[in-house]
Amino acid sequence: MIIEGPEHVQELPRQETWPAGACGSGPGILHDEPRPETGLTDAYGRVINYLRLSVTDRCNFRCVYCMPPGGAMYTPHAEILSYEEILRLCRLMSGLGIRRFKITGGEPLCRKDAVSFIRRLKNVPGVEQVTLTSNGTLLAPYVEELADIGVAGINISLNSLNPEHYAAIGRTQARPERILPVMAAAGKSGIKVKINVVPMRKFNDGDLHDLTRFALEGGYALRFIELMPVGLGATCKGVPPREIRNMIEKCFGALSALDDAAGNGPSDNFRVSGYAGSIGFISAVSNKFCRQCNRVRLTSGGFLKSCLHHNNGVELKPLLRGGAEDEEIVAALKEAVRQKPPEHEFKRAAKEKSARRFLMNSIGG
Ligand code: SAM
Ligand code: SF4
Repeated sequence: MIIEGPEHVQELPRQETWPAGACGSGPGILHDEPRPETGLTDAYGRVINYLRLSVTDRCNFRCVYCMPPGGAMYTPHAEILSYEEILRLCRLMSGLGIRRFKITGGEPLCRKDAVSFIRRLKNVPGVEQVTLTSNGTLLAPYVEELADIGVAGINISLNSLNPEHYAAIGRTQARPERILPVMAAAGKSGIKVKINVVPMRKFNDGDLHDLTRFALEGGYALRFIELMPVGLGATCKGVPPREIRNMIEKCFGALSALDDAAGNGPSDNFRVSGYAGSIGFISAVSNKFCRQCNRVRLTSGGFLKSCLHHNNGVELKPLLRGGAEDEEIVAALKEAVRQKPPEHEFKRAAKEKSARRFLMNSIGG
């Protein structure tokens, strides 16, 4: 069953060129280089090889931009895909050319046996890279096991080093200083650690300098994620990436661009002379990167969401639980990807209520 957002009810024709006006100016052809063979190419020629996989919508935090203070209406357990169901989908997706998997949530480590599941996923033929996004609070007991599994990287959300500000953003009693040794242990065990920060007015805009220093001196890759008007993000106010960049250049020195095309995506990364760490900007709103989008998202309830903003996608659970053959599921996956919208419309949608239809904890970021 293909579900489409009201703004995308038309059949998308297969096309090699970008629609006029979409994602800035420049030539419409998406790929100058020969494309790798894959079964998952969308109507705009984008190769989809990366899945963000939400294993739960539950979380021990209530970040102001992500979840309501009292917690979201969680998906009932019976409606959450089992690990067997997820693994079946991952096998089929891997057969279609999806090579990289990011485990997310909610807080992925809130789900029982998440680490055993990650091990099984890593062993699926064709799966080249498994990474994790986490708030880090439940990570300590699992660091060695994750390293043993071969998890390539962990993104840790660390929105402030100031305990009060950290607590206010996450609406949590957890303390940031408890996360730091866990990050260090993960780094020591060979896992690439990145720090995710969502800069926001009134919450952590005064803490970005300290976070930058911490990352640069500690050898971490810090990523400033521009606040997106998805779910409760529409109720907060972000900080323009340019402002952060100016602050860094003034306080730490010139930023020089890093060429790390091997990464999974949309971060513009920089180094600062004399420091071990790096700084990245993921600026989905002010610097749209839809033309390079290589990803789809699977919610814990089994909805394959082809764009973070639009509601286009396919409900896979009825197929999984209705006895569908692999071929039928593969056809649904391909069709969902084919109908991936050309771009998000965050700026237009920010003021509309529909932008809050999905809470980020159910999508996985
Ligand atoms: N609980 C984990 C965590 O916080 O890292 C994983 C799930 S969380 C939904 C994934 C990422 O999405 C986090 O880095 C979080 O900061 C980011 N995120 C959530 N809501 C956002 C929003 N409205 N705008 C920008 N980033 C957001
Ligand atoms: Fe939980 Fe992550 Fe959402 Fe914060 S951003 S409430 S840690 S899922």
